[in-house]
Amino acid sequence: MTNWVYSFGCGETQSLDIDRDRLGGKGASLAEMARMGLPVPPGLTIISDVCQHFYVHAKGFPDGLKQEIEAGLRAIEAATGRQFGGAETPLLLSVRSGSRVSMPGMMDTVLNLGLNDETVKALAADTGDERFAWDSYRRFIQMYADVVLGLDQEFFEEILEDRMSELGYAYETQLSADELKDIVSEYEKLLDEELGESFPQDPCEQLWGAISAVFSSWTSARATAYRALHDIPFDWGTAVNIQAMVFGNLGNDSATGVAFTRNPSTGEKALYGEFLLNAQGEDVVAGIRTPQSITEAGRIASGAEKPSLEKLMPRAFSELVTVAARLERHYGDLQDMEFTIERGTLWMLQTRNGKRAAGAAMKIAMDMADEGLISRDEAIIRVDPATLDQMLHPTISPDFKANPVGSGLPASPGAVTGEIVFSAEEAISAHAEGRKVILVRTETSPEDIHGMTAAEGVLTTRGGMTSHAAVVARGMGVPCVTGAGNMRVDRFDNILHGVGGVLMHAGDLVTIDGSTGRVLKGAVPTQKPALSDDFQRLMGWADAARRMKVRTNADTPGDARTAREFGAEGIGLCRTEHMFFEGDRIKTMRRMILAEDEAGRRAALDQLLPMQRADFEEIFAIMHGLPVTIRLLDPPLHEFLPKNEEEREEVARALDMETSLLKQRVEALYEFNPMLGHRGCRLAISFPEIAEMQARAIFEAAVAAARLTGEAVVPEIMVPLVSLRSELEYVKGRIDGIAGTVMRESGMTLTYRVGTMIELPRAALRAHEIAEEAAFFSLGTNDLTQTTFGLSRDDAPGFLGAYQKKGILERDPFMSLDFDGVGELMKLATERGRMAKPDLQIGICGEHGGDPISIRFCETLALDYVSCSPFRVPTARLAAAQASIREREDPASGKAVATA
Ligand code: PEP
Ligand code: MG
Repeated sequence: MTNWVYSFGCGETQSLDIDRDRLGGKGASLAEMARMGLPVPPGLTIISDVCQHFYVHAKGFPDGLKQEIEAGLRAIEAATGRQFGGAETPLLLSVRSGSRVSMPGMMDTVLNLGLNDETVKALAADTGDERFAWDSYRRFIQMYADVVLGLDQEFFEEILEDRMSELGYAYETQLSADELKDIVSEYEKLLDEELGESFPQDPCEQLWGAISAVFSSWTSARATAYRALHDIPFDWGTAVNIQAMVFGNLGNDSATGVAFTRNPSTGEKALYGEFLLNAQGEDVVAGIRTPQSITEAGRIASGAEKPSLEKLMPRAFSELVTVAARLERHYGDLQDMEFTIERGTLWMLQTRNGKRAAGAAMKIAMDMADEGLISRDEAIIRVDPATLDQMLHPTISPDFKANPVGSGLPASPGAVTGEIVFSAEEAISAHAEGRKVILVRTETSPEDIHGMTAAEGVLTTRGGMTSHAAVVARGMGVPCVTGAGNMRVDRFDNILHGVGGVLMHAGDLVTIDGSTGRVLKGAVPTQKPALSDDFQRLMGWADAARRMKVRTNADTPGDARTAREFGAEGIGLCRTEHMFFEGDRIKTMRRMILAEDEAGRRAALDQLLPMQRADFEEIFAIMHGLPVTIRLLDPPLHEFLPKNEEEREEVARALDMETSLLKQRVEALYEFNPMLGHRGCRLAISFPEIAEMQARAIFEAAVAAARLTGEAVVPEIMVPLVSLRSELEYVKGRIDGIAGTVMRESGMTLTYRVGTMIELPRAALRAHEIAEEAAFFSLGTNDLTQTTFGLSRDDAPGFLGAYQKKGILERDPFMSLDFDGVGELMKLATERGRMAKPDLQIGICGEHGGDPISIRFCETLALDYVSCSPFRVPTARLAAAQASIREREDPASGKAVATA
């Protein structure tokens, strides 16, 4: 029989033999901490199967659940010596969600459950603090009404604020027990009026109400949006944790807080966190009050005046330090912990692997490897290759004299500029129009999540490093400044007030620096980050761990230089047609394309030759002996031809050609389907003089570069869009001819290799024949995807969105490989190619060469290299290392990727 409920901290901890997916992250960590003997308030976990039973399968609560919960409650009562609903020492409970993965702030919580008109008095007597008891009751009614009864918090806030202003109070803490009692009566009256029923006095009724509400928060709009964003399946469901309350608001020797075992923004190895004195549970995460630093060092670094926990409660602090160290060692990862101190006693409420900024993730992984806590391979696996991008985020130029109009906490790194918007909706619509915006809020709530994704950056005037805005932005890699307390948002007039009376309106440009917490008016100069030592070291580890080489797709000397800086080990694809987009070159290129006969074409080619040669020479010199694959011209011709009357006239003028003649030529060259038309090797077959000019430019450049650098250059010449072996044979013959001529002319022996792209299904199918003519294959997965699906590269974006929305296609196959179809052809091509020629070099140069999941697939095919755009080279180096490690450790995982 299934057990639905598992107890922890009540003597024996039952739940360790079931998996954490069912207990949820929070439930599993509570059980684990209890087993380690750490101070955890006793409680029970209702596993996520119940949520599935209830919501996913719509079967209501399962049989036996009630009895199991009752038994669990008895155990909590026994462990605490308190009674649920008891008139002397009442047991109060928290009811909190906890799914398999953390969904910060997305689901509901009820605290102080079990209070009613009687138990509140008992609590007062028991704690000797009447004010505390009535404040807890007030909070409970407010929270319960909101979460369980669906009554807006604002009603209650209004009552509270009215009463405070009548009394002339600035803070809630000034309210006396009697005043709180009055407020409770008003709350109860409000409930009567609004709902026509009184606040439930029966603790069991309260408990079931809360359990149902927390389960249903799994289906709330914000949880649904969060799941969609993070690919979390609906059918996972959430667990619910019911736990004895401990109080962080029992006076000035009580507190509640969040701590990280290391700094989640910088990765620095030191306890890091925030707390609120005399406060309850969710206050820190909610970001309502700006919290204090846990450590003295943290306080000093932030320039705060309020004392640290280290100073205020040295005993509880030192216990927290010990617990943190044990938890980090136990889990072998950065821990994000919630704790409460009740009258000097520390209680742990949660621990989980902490979210961290990209730079911090890297530092933490590497430090942990250096400390011997994890292996180097594990450190490599822990850094998400996609986040390396974030490290390439700009920072504000150091010589720019920044004059901040505000400052807050550096919650998520990166300096960004955008127009000010004050709501998530405005952020979304501005983003849809292609405008860059900064979402400015007093504090963000989970409802803002869509707006945060649409914004370049997020700025809040309240809340700490662990507020919702900070946690979510860091996870998403969106630059963020929180708690800019010297700024103020006026939503009435939509104005952001900065220091010194500076006013900024919606639409004005503002810059935030998520690395330092500064806020600046207008746009400011930023610079590309210098790659840190950690970055270089991790790349070194990745390079040592990976099997596949990483090359780059570089078309110009500038690209080649950038790619070298990022560690490219060669050029996998130089698209020569891209060399002609610039300046005057396009003119000569057009002249060549539009030439009426061979003589005209040759004349234009003679002009193109020195340009090509000079570029190749420079590229060879930059790559300094590394392999360089140059592809013969593969222009879908339409990219080079004038598209309308106006352009035609302009081109005719530039080429000194009759407009009518030009029009005739353009019409003659018109193709219904240029992508499947006269391009690639087809061009070289009709006009071999083009391929010959390019081959000459390559060989002459190789001779010159070899003379210059003293190192032999071995060019790889790639023939595109081949589907027949005879096509390759023909073009290769022409190239060989030119090689002979250049060798004779220069008196130098040249080594070179001629290979082909595999980018058409027929080429993949006949790879064994083609391999006999080819020294190498490069998988052109852009065209291979286009032709395997029969899906136009240029037209697909118009309708692929609908495919993804309707779940017909999960991923855009032009971004991430279609393993089953395109992947199958790649597999065939590599197997058949190698069958004919075991030492055939095979790489990939389609866009997928920079996509981590596709790279994992390439490892399963044992490709020799991946090639991607210069900025993605670091990502590819790390992804290739992870692929190697995973393939070594668990070859089956490659198949799992392929079928995912
Ligand atoms: C390809 O088709 O995958 C490729 C790299 O070539 P291009 O994108 O230039 O067609
Ligand atoms: Mg192609």
